Amino acid sequence: MSGLLHDKNILVMGAANQRSIAWSIAEAVHREGGHVALTYQAERLKGRVSRLAEELGGAPMIECDVADDDAVRRAVDRLAEIMPVLHGIVHSIAWAPAEDLQGSFVETTRTGFAQANDISSYSLIAVAREARRLMTAGGAVVTMTYAGSWRVIPNYNVMGPAKASLESSVRYLAADLGPAGVRVNAVSAGPIATVAARTIKDFSGMLDLLESHTPLRRNVTADEVADAAVFLLSDLSRAITGEVVHVDAGAHAVT
Ligand code: NAD
Repeated sequence: MSGLLHDKNILVMGAANQRSIAWSIAEAVHREGGHVALTYQAERLKGRVSRLAEELGGAPMIECDVADDDAVRRAVDRLAEIMPVLHGIVHSIAWAPAEDLQGSFVETTRTGFAQANDISSYSLIAVAREARRLMTAGGAVVTMTYAGSWRVIPNYNVMGPAKASLESSVRYLAADLGPAGVRVNAVSAGPIATVAARTIKDFSGMLDLLESHTPLRRNVTADEVADAAVFLLSDLSRAITGEVVHVDAGAHAVT
């Protein structure tokens, strides 16, 4: 596999460290000949993300807290100076208060629900709205979701409705942006041990269970998820939009 994204400008949002799914996607985009720009959430992550950027030969880095519309606008303004034409966006961002990722779902707080939906779902709309002005040659938007959107996963709790809303937004955005040649899809990944995932109570128990239950009798790796994201960013998927692609060793088919 090589050159699937030759000379394409791709914004990758959500790489916090080497375990982040966004980082695996950034590496895969780079491998396929794409030019990567990384965003990071806040100053405290800058040092770590700059070390990742160096591994990609000095990829540009832009600070962007997606909870703030002005910050998203400023980030896209900055991106426009580096990449006047953008071919792809990877949105790999989610957050919910730790106390809402355990115990009874019925105890979900109003604030926790609003924050989880704002950062994990609404942010896709905010980013697409700003960045579409750079997608003048068409392109692809890819976000990350999880099967907790449509079935109950213990402790996933407030993130379930947030991911359901995210997946619905994928379809609405696909309808809106399709006439401009911009496709919008999601990858529904199986569980992978990242910082965000480890916030979910008993996450490792979930990994152990799936290992013996998925059709492929294993869990998935971030690299496998990244290869699917490359496919959705590339012209190989040129007729696919509004779709949720499961990269979960088949778990969705049997549970
Ligand atoms: P991660 O912790 O490495 O990445 C989450 C990212 O979200 C971090 O980079 C963090 O800085 C960023 N973020 C949080 N709040 C933000 C804000 N206000 N502004 C900007 N960035 C913010 O974890 P990950 O597992 O790589 O998560 C990436 C995506 O993949 C998430 O959408 C997650 O729900 C999804 N996903 C993860 C798994 C899994 O098991 N790891 C499975 C399916 C889907």
